[in-house]
Amino acid sequence: MARRKKVYEGKAKILYEGPEPGTLIQYFKDDATAFNAQKVEVIEGKGVLNNRLSEFFMQGLNDIGVPTHFIRRINMREQLIRQVEMIPLEVVVRNSAAGSLSKRLGLEEGTPLPRPIVEFYFKDDKLGDPMVAEEHIIAFGWATQQDLDDVVALALRVNDFLSGVMMGVGIRLVDFKIEVGRIWDENDYQRIVVADEISPDSCRLWDVKTGQKLDKDVFRHDLGSLSDAYSEVARRLGVLPAATPVPVKPSLIN
Ligand code: UDP
Repeated sequence: MARRKKVYEGKAKILYEGPEPGTLIQYFKDDATAFNAQKVEVIEGKGVLNNRLSEFFMQGLNDIGVPTHFIRRINMREQLIRQVEMIPLEVVVRNSAAGSLSKRLGLEEGTPLPRPIVEFYFKDDKLGDPMVAEEHIIAFGWATQQDLDDVVALALRVNDFLSGVMMGVGIRLVDFKIEVGRIWDENDYQRIVVADEISPDSCRLWDVKTGQKLDKDVFRHDLGSLSDAYSEVARRLGVLPAATPVPVKPSLIN
């Protein structure tokens, strides 16, 4: 079998050429990184869990008419996606204060916000993904005002969907990050879609009753087993049956 062509390799995923033009295969690795890749570890089974969880969230969004790049899952670690033109932003939506917002504004972690807040960060590892305002984004041509209006509307729809789904299984969605891209339809109309992944790597998820963290903060701050936390999220959502061990051996990935 011919070797697949690698298009891009990031910290947690690899993109390969897809079977048809306009498609890509997204492969989920087990690598965990934090603090701009200063902390790195391999967490067996993380890629399998994130592939499943991202499928669950993206398919759910597609089903309610919120456009995403997701087409279908191929196997334990890979999914078929639409190739999009990425907008170089991390779009963060916050429902409660935590992380960098708490630090910047001196807000206690967990303080509910008066309304969801949408923030933009310029995706650039060398610069440490600095926060930017709409002014910068428009002035430097990363996106237009119309694009940004669409991105904010999309991010808030994702927030409503994810908050509801998580609340249904006793989990509080504190904040999350999405990445977005452009696709063009057959009439050359541009559409902004959710791309990349939605998983506990890019969300803050707290148990409603106990406040236990079920997201990447477990890894960032050494709070216990990351795969146990992600498995718990998957189990509650019915993505993995309760007793299914997460396969970790490469020979099991198909
Ligand atoms: N986030 C992410 N990737 C990043 C930065 C942040 O997925 O490079 C997510 C993070 O997991 C959290 C939300 O975005 O759910 C807000 O993160 P914050 O700005 O508080 O930064 P952090 O405290 O993670 O440095």
